[in-house]
Formats: sequence, C-alpha cells, structure tokens
Amino acid sequence: MTANSRCSAAESPGLETQRREIESLLRECELRAGESWYVVDRRWFDQWKEFVETGDQNSTSFPGQIDNAELFEDLDSYHLKDRLVEDEDFVLVPAEAWHKLLSWYGMVDDQPPLERKVVDLPSTLKVEVYPIEIFLCLHSNMENAVTTKFSRTDSIHLIQRAMCQAFSVPPGSECRLWMKSSDSSCERLRNVHMSVLDACLSSGMTVIMETRNADGTWPSSRPQIMRNSVEEQDSYRGQPGVCGLTNLGNTCFMNSALQCLSNTPPLTEYFLQNSYVDELNFTNPLGMKGEIAEAYADVIKQMWSGRHYSVVPRVFKTKVGHFASQFLGYQQHDSQELLSFLLDGLHEDLNRVKNKEYIELRDADGRQDQEVAEEAWRNHLRRNDSVIVDTFHGLFKSTLVCPECHKVSVTFDPFCYLSVPLPVSKERVMEVFFVSLDPYAKPVQHRVVVPKAGKVSDLCSALSEMTSVPPTQMVVADVFNHRFYKIYNMGESLSAILDRDDIFVYELSVLEEQPEEQVLLALYLRERSHYRDYGSGGGSYGTSLFGHPLLLNVPRSSCSQEALYNLFLQRLARYVRLPDPSEELEEEEEDDEEELYKTQTNGISDDDEQEEVEPAGPSQTDYSCGDATPNRKSDGNTTEPQAEENHIQPLPDHGDPGENSNGSQSQTEPGCSGDTNSADDMDPGEQSSGPAGADRSSKPPAEQPHEPTEEENEEDKQEEACSPSPPANEHPAKRRACHVRRKRLFSIQAVNSNGTTERGMGEGGSAVSFSSQPYVAIDWEPDMKKRFYNENEAEKYVKHASMEVPQQHMTVQLQQCIELFTTVETLEEENPWYCPVCKKHQLATKKLDLWSLPEVLIIHLKRFSYTKFTREKLDSIVEFPLRDLDFSGFLLRKTLSSEEPPSRYDLIAVSNHYGGLRDGHYTTYAKNKDNGQWYYFDDSKVTYATEDQIVTNAAYVLFYQRQDKIRKPTLPAPNTGPTSSSQTSSDTASCKDDEDAAELGAASSITMETE
Ligand SMILES: [Zn+2]
Repeated sequence: MTANSRCSAAESPGLETQRREIESLLRECELRAGESWYVVDRRWFDQWKEFVETGDQNSTSFPGQIDNAELFEDLDSYHLKDRLVEDEDFVLVPAEAWHKLLSWYGMVDDQPPLERKVVDLPSTLKVEVYPIEIFLCLHSNMENAVTTKFSRTDSIHLIQRAMCQAFSVPPGSECRLWMKSSDSSCERLRNVHMSVLDACLSSGMTVIMETRNADGTWPSSRPQIMRNSVEEQDSYRGQPGVCGLTNLGNTCFMNSALQCLSNTPPLTEYFLQNSYVDELNFTNPLGMKGEIAEAYADVIKQMWSGRHYSVVPRVFKTKVGHFASQFLGYQQHDSQELLSFLLDGLHEDLNRVKNKEYIELRDADGRQDQEVAEEAWRNHLRRNDSVIVDTFHGLFKSTLVCPECHKVSVTFDPFCYLSVPLPVSKERVMEVFFVSLDPYAKPVQHRVVVPKAGKVSDLCSALSEMTSVPPTQMVVADVFNHRFYKIYNMGESLSAILDRDDIFVYELSVLEEQPEEQVLLALYLRERSHYRDYGSGGGSYGTSLFGHPLLLNVPRSSCSQEALYNLFLQRLARYVRLPDPSEELEEEEEDDEEELYKTQTNGISDDDEQEEVEPAGPSQTDYSCGDATPNRKSDGNTTEPQAEENHIQPLPDHGDPGENSNGSQSQTEPGCSGDTNSADDMDPGEQSSGPAGADRSSKPPAEQPHEPTEEENEEDKQEEACSPSPPANEHPAKRRACHVRRKRLFSIQAVNSNGTTERGMGEGGSAVSFSSQPYVAIDWEPDMKKRFYNENEAEKYVKHASMEVPQQHMTVQLQQCIELFTTVETLEEENPWYCPVCKKHQLATKKLDLWSLPEVLIIHLKRFSYTKFTREKLDSIVEFPLRDLDFSGFLLRKTLSSEEPPSRYDLIAVSNHYGGLRDGHYTTYAKNKDNGQWYYFDDSKVTYATEDQIVTNAAYVLFYQRQDKIRKPTLPAPNTGPTSSSQTSSDTASCKDDEDAAELGAASSITMETE
C-alpha cells in the first residue's frame, strides 16, 4: 500500500462513520428500475468491512484501492468473467455507496467501473450484471460489424444513436433498423422507443441499419418505382409531387385518393419534414401500429423526391389491404371510402394521445352553443390529437328533436369531411321500346322523361305524347331472354324498373268487348328441337325460346286455335312469310271433318295426344269453332277473373281513368269500321283518342277479331291466306268453305310464364286458363322456321328522334349542396334515435349546422345514391368555385372574433369518378404546392391541367384549403403554353417501362375498369 492511498483515506470520514453510512445505504436502498448499481469484487469488499470494523486507521486490514481485477477475464478487454455469482464473487452496491467508496479509496488505475442497471424483467427486478452484447453494422457494409453492449432496458433509439456515431452517418439521415437473429431471419425494429428487452434483442444478434435513398426508397425494399433505366434514376429531376402512381389492377380509386392527399400541403410537409417519426403510435389499439403511416410516408417521399415519373404503391396497397380487408383484393372501390379509411388510419397511427381516457359526452341541456362546442372540441382533443385532427377536423352541431315529446338534443360532433347530398332530380330518363299494333312497323326505341316517383301509367302518358297512342292502349312489360320477366300494372311504381331492364310497351287494340271479356295474351316464340325431351315425363319436345315476345289483347270469345293462328300470322307479318301457292303445304283433304269436330276446342289445344301421334310434323289444322262460350262457361274461373291471383287483369289496370277520358274522341283507326261500335260500347274512360290512331298507321290492327272487311282483306299481304280472323260465331260450315285446307306454319301451345309447356292442364282440350295471365307459345319446326321466319327482320328496330337528343346534365351549385346538408331531415326507420324522455326509439328530426371548419376541408359529393328502391349515380354538374368559397354564411357561429381566420377557401384537389355504379375510373386534378400549377393525375400519367377543365360532372371529392393557410408558390409556374403541353405528355410518356410493364401485365392498363 502506498502512502498516497493512505493519504487519501486520511481525508475520509472516520471508520465508524464509513461503516454506518455504507451499511445503511445497503440496507435501505431498494432496487428501482433504471437505476445504476455497481459491481465490486467481494474480497475487496470483505477486506474493507474488516478494516472499518477494527476501527484502526493504521490496521493492516486496510483494503487499498478498489480492485475488480479478479472479475475480469483479462485486463485488456475488461470482459466480465462468465458465471460469476453474487455474494460469492462480487457484491452489488447502490450508486451512492459506490461513489462514496470511490471517493474514499479510489480505484486501481485504468479499471472501468462496473456500472449495471436495475432492469424490470418480467416478474422480477434485478441488477443486470450481464448486459446483452450485439453486433452492429450498416446495410451497405455488413462485413464491418462492431460489438457493443446494451442493457435490456436501453431503447432501440439508443442503439440507433450509437450506430450513427459508430458509422459516422450524416445527421438528419432517416434510418431504419433491422434485427437479424442467428437463423438469419430479419425483423424491423420499428418502434425506436421500445426497449432492447421488449424488442427481444439478445446477445449474439446483429442490428443492421439502413438510410433512406435520395429518391425516397429504402435500400432493403424491392424497388417501388418504375425504373426506365439507371439513367432515369440518376438524371430525372422533375417537379417534386408531379409523379404518377402505377395502377396495380383496379387501384385507380386508391391512386386518386393518394394524389389528393399528396397535394394537401400541410400533410405532405409533415411527412417530408419527418415530423411523423416522433409521433408514430405503436401502441394504439385503434391504429395500425404505425405501419400505415410509415407506408404512406414512403409513398409520399418517393412522389416528392423529384426522381420518379411514377411510383408503384404496392407496399402501401398491401398494408391497406392488411388492415382493411375490404381493400385487399383488386375490385374497384370508392375513392372516398378509401380516403375515409386512410384519414382514420393515419390519425390513429399518429395519435399523440397514447392512452385514451373515457369521456362521457354531455348533452347541451340548454347551455350556450359556444360553451357546449368548446367542451366538445376539448373532449375530442383529449382523445384525438394528430396531424389529421390539426388539418382536417371540424365541428358541426347536430340538433335532434323528438316528434313525440319535443325533447331537443344538441351535440357537437367532429367531422373529417363533409358528405353533402346532391339535389336529386325528380325526373328520370327511361329508354323503352314501343311496339305498335301495325304489324309492319318495327319496334321504336324512345327516350322518355318520367317522374322518378311515378307509376307505370306515367311512363305510358309520356310515351303517348310521342306515339299519339293513348296510354289506355298500352301495356308495359320487362322482356328478358325472349320471355316476359314481368308484365306491369298501370299502378305499379316505376322504381321497380331498373335502367338496365329491357322495357317494351305494347300497343293494344281497341275492342268492342267489355274489359272483362278481353284477354291479354302473352305470346312466345319457340323452336322445337329434334330430340324428344324424355326428362319432362310426357311426350313433349324440347323447345327453346327465340325472338321477341308479344302482348296482345283479344276478345275472350276469339281464343280458338284458328282465330289465334290467323291473328298471330297477321301480327307477325313483318317477319313471318306466308307460303305462296306454289309451296306444297296443303294437307290432303280427307274426311277429317268428323275428327275436327271431335277435337274442337274453344281455345288452345293442349295437343298432347296429337303430338303423341304425329311427333315430327307440324300440327294439323284443327278447325275449331269460334264459339267458345260453352266450354268457357264450364270453366268456373272464367267468369270473374280474380285480380288478387292474377298476374295481370284481362286488361291491365289503366290507372287514373280521368287522365284518359277523352270521350269526345271516340274515333278509332280508319279501316276498322267495326271498331267504331266497339269503342262506343267501351267504358268512356278507356276510349282511345282518335287523332292518335289516325296518323299512326294505315294498317288495321291485326288482332281485331271482328268480321273482316273488304279493306282488311285487301290490305292483307297474303291474298291467298285465310281471312285474318273468322268471326267468332260464324257457322263452321260457312267458314270451312272459305278456307284452304293446309298445313300450318306453327302450332299453338299453352305455356306457363317461363315459356315451358305445363302438362296436365287443359282438360277437354282447352288450354287457355282465364283465371290467370294466359301465356301461349307458337312452336316452330326448325325447317319451317328456316323457311318462313325472317330472323334478321324480326330483330330490327328503329330509334325515335328522342334518342338523338343529348341527355341534359342537371347543374347545381356547390352552395346548394351545402344548404341541403344543413336541411332538416327526418331520421330513417333503420336509424332511429333513442329519446331519453320517451325511453324509446323515435324517428326524430335532425338538423346539422357547421360550427367550425378545418384548415383543409374535404367535401364529398354524394353522387352514389342508394335508397331502398333505387341505386343510381347522380351525374349532375356541381359548379364549385376554384377560389373564394366563402363559408361564413354557412357557419352557425356568427360572432367571429377578429383574430379568427376568415372562412374563405381555395380549391387544391379534386378526385374524379367517371362511369356508372359498378364500374368506372378515378383520376385527380390537383395543384402543386410548390409551383401553383394544376395537374391531371391519371394513374401513372400526369399532364398539365388548366383551371377551366376542373369543374365537370365527374368531380366527386373536393379538397379546399383555407386562404390564410395557403402559402405562395416558391417556384414559378412552369411554361404550359401550347408548345410545352405536348412536352408534358412526353415527360410522362417516358415513364412507360418495358420491364415493369411486363411485370405488371394488364394491371398497368389505365382504361375503364370494371369489377
Ligand atoms: Zn321523446
């Protein structure tokens, strides 16, 4: 022992004092996480205890300088020996005791103090004698690893700092850390505030650091950019933010939303300045553990690096899909939906509130708006505080009034965007086909304007104006797959008809019979197949429907096979040719009179037996007696058709009769001499309007089953054919005389509404059931159809002039939409309000008022209208201002103090939607914050835009920034003159990249996408 050390000890307190002080520190000091304790060699410590207990300064037990040499493996590395045991090899002293000992005795030269931290390990608190030892290296140089020790309680951030220092990383660089275990799997150390222990870092592992590239990418990520070539990467220095986003397959909705947000200056600056790094919230259960915010930051940094023409947001899309499975696939989605999700996801990922407290919302209870609003905003900030709240959140007042007790409930609720309704047009444009009675007239396609809430009768009235056919003589049907999907009653709502439905409106004849004596016959065309359909049980044939079905009204008394056959022939005359005399279709005229009489029916024969006998041939003419009365009367159901069970009445319900009562005009079509009487006999309300028919057609209505006149016969194209309709009550003998016995072109079959033959009906040969909508089919043999049915002609139709008129877009002002947003509405039944007074759910009236507005106001135009009955996209043009949108008139709070910002806004971005409900394409107009120039972003393409292009009926989501927050562009606007506008496209065209295009395949196409 040297004199020096004795000397230093001499300045120490007395030995008894030393003993007391150290012992009390050891006794009283508790382990507290994070505090330092020191490792001291036990033999030196025992020596010291003996020394102070003797109480003799000059005793030989003087311990000398603190010496931990025995604890080290060697005196070069000062590595602690493995498996040292506390109280055998060393003792632990708290920091205060250590510093006292050190000041009294000093330490052997060059030995490091063995400072160790108290760590809060699961279920135990202990001094960490052995810290973990890890290897540190850079991503760019993994060979050069540095070994460093860290406590389990150290933060990852401390490791990052140590690495930046060790590897001389320039300050301000953005870094990412990865940990690599021995099995060489790599995991991101995302939360730099996490401890080594929580990150599961352990001795022997490697921490790798990478720094962000200048183009916004990370060295470790697969390239997210379209690289033309190495040169592009190095040379391209475009305007930051003017950067396309590659379509990954139906992702234009995402690209559009991203471009809007990217061009929201406060948000983008927040990310570009790395403010987000410190605010990432890894623990928020409502968030995405910071992953959405980081993925978003990566996209923004690349877009604003100025080094890419276009960025591939694949990682971002995957993250979004991971957290919101509805966006996982490649279906088309709504850009506003994504925007809403994204704003919420970014908010929770960046929420500065780490532990959300529960706050009970108080009703206003008559307090002043100002007080309640301030309280609501304060409460909102206590749970929600982020860049998203700073930028996008406003407050509106919601007032609910109970319809029963008139309880008024006022709340103030934050909003992230305003969803404003569009004034819904009360009118609707429908496209329908009108089928005239004139058999030679092609169906005419009309475009009619009808009240959206109208009835089928309104459609007929509108069509009547164009066709001059009275609505009472129309019947409306939905045709699908050659059959009637539905035949509408006049009173039915038009909302049952969708725009995509094929609607046919058939003109009906004016008959002399009373409505209940008429039958509305649905006529289908079928072709027989050559094989027998054994599956159906009976001896029926396979048949398939073709062509256009028809609806025609006939007197009930004229439903004989013969009458119908002739009626149909005439009605189909435009495309069904009658055999000329040279064509041998005549049947041998045997004495089958008997048989004919036997099989005489009053209606359509079920033909069962006949077909069994003569399966292949066309059905034979079976003259049937026109007088249907006896058999029909035997059918109990026929006398009074039941409205309830009928799909349709014998004649359709023609709605409001007053509308059609045109009593003075009882004239019917010329040439139908017989009709004048019949019209007189009809109910005046159902009479036709004369002038209408007059100019319509010179042809007589084909299905008039009255006695044929000379004119009619003359006009009949086929002179040799039978008279169109034999009189119903004519004597059979007389009729027989005027007919040529011949084979028919087709047979007539009663069918069900699907156009399939129903078996087991038609007892006694009568198949037309008058108790329900009768459906009949005319069945063609394939060879007959080939010869006499002109398919080409049958499919023809013409377009009415109304189809040529371009559809007018409704134009509304944005201010009108905002007014609608604040209009009193009554809650819908699906979404009632629980009235605390009535103690039950009530359909309260609700009024929204704007209270305070954010810096960036997002206005969502509710173009997609979904109601119980209709789903439509409203394509009105909403005229929105590009500058000076003044909200002061809409704000409830009128007393703006002078220091409050004015409520005037300028447009900064627009998300556009083109197309219909189920398909479409999204693009964006946005203004670059740096140069003030407007651009049009269409997936990977970016072009210059001018202000006059921005307001269209595609505008879907609008972004406005409050004027006091708008910064002047720091760069001059680019030269967008006519010469340079083509320059733009070459700018962007060059982002076409063979390599990436091949990789993305068809997904990179930017045409209209469908689901
Ligand atoms: Zn109530």
